[in-house]
Amino acid sequence: MHPDISHLLDISAAQHSHLCPRQVLGVRIGLAGVETLQAATAGRPLRLLVIMETDGCLVDGVTAATGCAVGKRSLRVEDYGKIAATFVDMESEQAVRVTPRLDVRQRAFAYAPGERRHYFAQLTGYQVMPDQELLSIQPVRLVRSVAEIMSRAGVRVNCACCGEEIINEREVAQEGRTLCQPCAWGGYYTPTQGVNAPVARIAMPSRRPVPVAGNGAAQRAMQR
Ligand SMILES: [Zn+2]
Ligand SMILES: [Zn+2]
Repeated sequence: MHPDISHLLDISAAQHSHLCPRQVLGVRIGLAGVETLQAATAGRPLRLLVIMETDGCLVDGVTAATGCAVGKRSLRVEDYGKIAATFVDMESEQAVRVTPRLDVRQRAFAYAPGERRHYFAQLTGYQVMPDQELLSIQPVRLVRSVAEIMSRAGVRVNCACCGEEIINEREVAQEGRTLCQPCAWGGYYTPTQGVNAPVARIAMPSRRPVPVAGNGAAQRAMQR
């Protein structure tokens, strides 16, 4: 049986209104990632960087297990929409990618005796399944170096198009000009009005009545 992780689950759940299977997976993935790297670096203290492949509950589990967070620049999200995380020792650049095995939802039932509901079987099973049954762990190499990913404090340039400041060497050179990425190749937004224009009032459509069965079952179904 895996060591007791209930204190880590408490930390994770405190960030939420609930404890869910994704958070349990996050804690287990985080612990396994650190443990594997720690073994590979012969116990030398890790300078850990975590790259998550989705946002949401999984991240809170990983943060509870590792202490890594976006605000500390020790956790990043590459949103592939996948339940996976890569753990990097920033010193040696050794890295391992950890994912749940493909059949864990079914396997969880064997570790939750008498439980027939998927959600609760996962919630219980994921806490106690041995690492070998729960997780796949693969050594990987980062495409960009840690130095490139982290950049340096204090470097800044201004975009030749929008004029905004760019930190961490995220600028791009295009036809001899230094540009921010949105100006160079488009970003996640398009302006609808000029800078400092008043924000238009939005008429909200009237709320639809809450369905009678909306007591968390729908939410849980979404998370599976
Ligand atoms: Zn959740
Ligand atoms: Zn720009």
